[in-house]
Amino acid sequence: MTMCIALDENKKLVNIEHAERGLACQCTCFECGEAVIARKGEIKEHHFAHASNKASCTINPESVLHKYAKEVILESRGLMLPTLPNSDNEAAWWTFEKVLPEFSLGLIRPDLVGYFDEEPILIEIAVTHFIDAEKLKRIEVFKSKCIEIDLSSLLKSDISIPSIEAKKQILENLENRKWIYPVPLLEHIEEKQTTISKEVTETAQTNVENLQSTPKWQDYKFKIKGMHINVRKFASGMISVNSIYNPEIIEMLRTWKHEGRGKYIKDYKSWNYWLPFSEIVFQRLNSMNELPSQEMP
Ligand SMILES: [Zn+2]
Repeated sequence: MTMCIALDENKKLVNIEHAERGLACQCTCFECGEAVIARKGEIKEHHFAHASNKASCTINPESVLHKYAKEVILESRGLMLPTLPNSDNEAAWWTFEKVLPEFSLGLIRPDLVGYFDEEPILIEIAVTHFIDAEKLKRIEVFKSKCIEIDLSSLLKSDISIPSIEAKKQILENLENRKWIYPVPLLEHIEEKQTTISKEVTETAQTNVENLQSTPKWQDYKFKIKGMHINVRKFASGMISVNSIYNPEIIEMLRTWKHEGRGKYIKDYKSWNYWLPFSEIVFQRLNSMNELPSQEMP
């Protein structure tokens, strides 16, 4: 098998046609990391060869594509993303504030994490391995937006890697990507299943919130502008605010979300706020409370 791909001095993929001849290419083998020479003679097909003269490595095309996709997304710091489920957003190009490779969010190790509006978006690049039920469950616990880009057809195509066309497929093709989370409401097959998964999720979330202590939270009830508001305060200091729909209150909670560290969890219709901002939110709700004296922290 001929090696027509190697890594350049910046560890980026390079095709033999774009490499300088000989050792000057400063390339290493994609598979074993040894120094390679770019053989670009008149007779034989151009290829890389180990400088040590050992036999060629077998380069796995799936790994090459996977690495290339990561490289391209990191470089462009953005992606075309389809309509976000259960939202009015249209398919659009998302420019991330930053993109991190190999970043762990608890038990989840996504291929990349892009930050949009300070919120992590998990990016999974699927060439042969797709997100399974176990991973999906973990993603649901974190309630992190997650997109999966399916590059299996790019792998089977004769589009060369790296190339402008491949780059386009990775960054822009809306046909090969879908939101894994949030889950489109239509895909909640039965109410019953949703309830079970919600319970599992809530239990798991509680566990995550309370890694160092016994699972615990405290519930508070407020009445603001005549509306009942339930607040769950977790041991981590995070609070989750639930309100019956009232435009004024929703607007207030949304403003706070933008002001501090907050997030709206559509599936639960709850507004989550984290420390230290959660304390401020709690105090504000408390000062607006119309209910007679109740237990306060
Ligand atoms: Zn090698």
